[in-house]
Amino acid sequence: MHTANLSRAKGLLGPTHVKTPLSQTRFSANFNARTGARRTTRLGACFMKIHDLVTTTEALAQLCARWAQSPFIAVDTEFMRENTYWPDLCLIQVADEQDAAAIDPKADGLDLKPLLDLLTDNEDVLKVVHAGGQDIEIICNLTGKTPHPMFDTQIAAMALGQGEQVGYSNLVDSWLGIQLDKGARFTDWARRPLDQRQIDYAIGDVTHLAAIFPQMLEKLRKTGRGVWLNDEMERIADPSNYVTDPQTAWKRVKVSSRKPEVLGRLKALAAWREVEARGKNIPRGRIMKDETLADVAMHPPRHQQDLSRVRGLSASWAGNDIGGRLMDAIAAAKPLSAEEMPSRDDRKPGLGKEGALVADLLKLLLKIRARDIDVAPRLLARSDELDMLAAGQKSGLAVLESWRFEQFGRDALDLVEGRLAFAVVNGRLKITRIEDSPEAA
Ligand SMILES: [Zn+2]
Repeated sequence: MHTANLSRAKGLLGPTHVKTPLSQTRFSANFNARTGARRTTRLGACFMKIHDLVTTTEALAQLCARWAQSPFIAVDTEFMRENTYWPDLCLIQVADEQDAAAIDPKADGLDLKPLLDLLTDNEDVLKVVHAGGQDIEIICNLTGKTPHPMFDTQIAAMALGQGEQVGYSNLVDSWLGIQLDKGARFTDWARRPLDQRQIDYAIGDVTHLAAIFPQMLEKLRKTGRGVWLNDEMERIADPSNYVTDPQTAWKRVKVSSRKPEVLGRLKALAAWREVEARGKNIPRGRIMKDETLADVAMHPPRHQQDLSRVRGLSASWAGNDIGGRLMDAIAAAKPLSAEEMPSRDDRKPGLGKEGALVADLLKLLLKIRARDIDVAPRLLARSDELDMLAAGQKSGLAVLESWRFEQFGRDALDLVEGRLAFAVVNGRLKITRIEDSPEAA
């Protein structure tokens, strides 16, 4: 099912599929540099109905039925996560070009199902987000699924010369010429009732997005760069990005030891902490700080009474249940297996001193190419891929496939194989091709 849907998502972005629901006729008239952008906004504002805060399942179901007819919806969420393990979902905002609404997930008796179905089970409606990682994570926590197909405007902006991490207010300013009020950004979204200013602010996060998306899409079509984004958009929809396995939680904890016994205890302790934090729904650091976790892994106490002497733990750990479970975790820990051991060197294998210089040269080439075609370097290639290329690897690298190969990979390969050189021409750094093989020269 996913494969078939993938081609549809690609159809939205690819240059060859103009007869999708998001066709030229629908949007092209509105896209034209800056002045055109402003006109669209005003049009959008005229036609876009802002609904009252949605607090009933019936109202939500009605709106979802309308949104389901739309080729795309813009989605954003507001949540609090300072005091909980799971983010506390406080508001969901949705807009297409006609209807915008904020939905109160905390409203008594409101069932989010119509919306969650629309987000995760309706492949005909593209979900547009901006830097949507945390929004996707919340939906994933609620449903075990991610919204699909997805379009993230922050990622798309990388293909349109707007840098690697353009913020929402900069995006809105650059495409619509509107300066956002950021005043309500850090308010308490969990408080009830929400005041109108909070709701207005939150809805702005999707109404502008719904106005920007068609323009972005049009520009991606015109430049042929939509296809550059297909795999990026699929990647953010991959549920494995949003699920933390307690068994791998130890990898995010720093410890100054490589002993398999220590790392094995760290793994067991990190998994134990994850389970405790989830069970109590409090941030993991409030069960035990990372430093304390590493400390206990390095110097495991023999008896539970010894826990009272561990820095960062209160005296009560010597006798309470959680202290008992901690001791059980230590007792059950096994030395880390050889396969699980982290690699000794941060450097990629095989990358010696010369290789590191080659990698630097590749990074320079990447900078030049990214500048020349006005795209964020990270979209063209990841730096670990360049390290691998410098180390002699020539297969299994995204940079040597499809559009990345055309835009950068071919030159990168030419550089490591001696067919490309740098030169300064009239004060400007240029890439030149070497006609003869360097051996013959
Ligand atoms: Zn927001």
